Amino acid sequence: MSENNPFEIAQRQLDEAAAILGLDPATHALLREPLRELTVNIPVRMDDGSVRIFKGYRVQYNDARGACKGGLRWHPDETLDTVRALAAWMTWKTAVVDIPLGGGKGGVVCNPKELSPTEQERLARGYIRAVWKIIGEDTDIPAPDVYTNPQIMAWMMDEYSIIRGYFAPGVITGKPLALGGSAGREDATARGGIYTVREAAKMLDIELRGKTAAIQGYGNAGQFAHQLAEEILGMRVVAVSDSKGGIFQEDGLGFQATLRHKKGTGSVVGMPNTISLSNSELMEMEVTVLFPAALEHVITAENAGQIKAKIVAELANGPTTPEADKILHERGVYVIPDFLCNAGGVTVSYFELVQNAYDYYWPLATVHERLDNKMTAAFQAVHKMAQAKRVHNRLAAYLVAVERVAEAAKLRGWV
Ligand code: NAD
Repeated sequence: MSENNPFEIAQRQLDEAAAILGLDPATHALLREPLRELTVNIPVRMDDGSVRIFKGYRVQYNDARGACKGGLRWHPDETLDTVRALAAWMTWKTAVVDIPLGGGKGGVVCNPKELSPTEQERLARGYIRAVWKIIGEDTDIPAPDVYTNPQIMAWMMDEYSIIRGYFAPGVITGKPLALGGSAGREDATARGGIYTVREAAKMLDIELRGKTAAIQGYGNAGQFAHQLAEEILGMRVVAVSDSKGGIFQEDGLGFQATLRHKKGTGSVVGMPNTISLSNSELMEMEVTVLFPAALEHVITAENAGQIKAKIVAELANGPTTPEADKILHERGVYVIPDFLCNAGGVTVSYFELVQNAYDYYWPLATVHERLDNKMTAAFQAVHKMAQAKRVHNRLAAYLVAVERVAEAAKLRGWV
């Protein structure tokens, strides 16, 4: 087993849960692999007239509890195993927040930073032409993930609607508001994570107001985590980073100023009155809450012993390896596991689907209230399971989720 293959990690995490739950071998085998996967090669006409072929994937991991649901990631290091792992985690995520959906994920191997907007549009449309037969409102509903955004979702929804011959907003979530998006989708992942941090702090008897936080990754999840850690929790965010590096300011990096600098220069690095630091220095800082909000396996056996945060709130998918999990647990670091902590995005995506189906849209306050209810209930279910089985939170989240998916598969007569 390699510590770097996210799918092997996802399978190993499942194996541990299956053993505790006493899953029968057929159910265990079913949940260990995706139900379906598709690899496509997408020809895209570039702005200079040449044609480039991009590799894309869509993995439908499990739909026992409802249609597959999961984002689309555009990244140069994308692999089929990464997509499989993310699709597995989506399956556990929709189950742990108890929404009637399964898990899927997709991706394209590309570097969007090197693509012009028109090339991005042609790639988005080409991806849909390649996968449209296996996606749809009732079968598999994509959404944004790393380096994809509402505009890309809009092009994809349009291409799917053209192919089907009718307006089909429910095929994709994370759309712009003007095209059937939900109020509150933009900050939903971070907001859901912030609600779980609030619950964890209550349980650990920590007063968060005025305490420190560090955030690795300054995209959708990381930026809103910064804003909401200040607004909702009253915390001081002292360090943030992106792919170019990190910055530190003991008095707190104000959200508006940091965002302005990031938007103006393309990176948080070099913001006036801050000290530069590396991503690994950021991970090991003495803060109350650490938010990994970038990519996979950033907390490993090598650095887990140096993590000084009291709470690790995993907004990113798969930031912690199983070896690191054990070390953090032994050292008393309270981890809010990824598929619980970052489930706010898919929860509001589900709200978006419901609103699209009814063609009736909810006010922002309703979205926030319903999201809070779902996240708080999921946190409590995981916390209760962790105490009952005396296991760490990730394993507890697996136990809650796997039990629900296994029950659905059994009731449907699959195993
Ligand atoms: P994004 O593309 O908006 O941002 C990613 C950020 O990570 C960027 O700021 C980038 O510079 C930074 N980054 C990349 N490599 C880095 C590195 N080596 N060190 C530090 N920073 C690095 O993506 P996002 O939507 O914010 O997603 C971030 C994580 O959250 C991913 O793991 C994603 O799967 C997860 N997630 C996102 C959502 C969502 O709704 N956006 C939902 C659930 C989970």
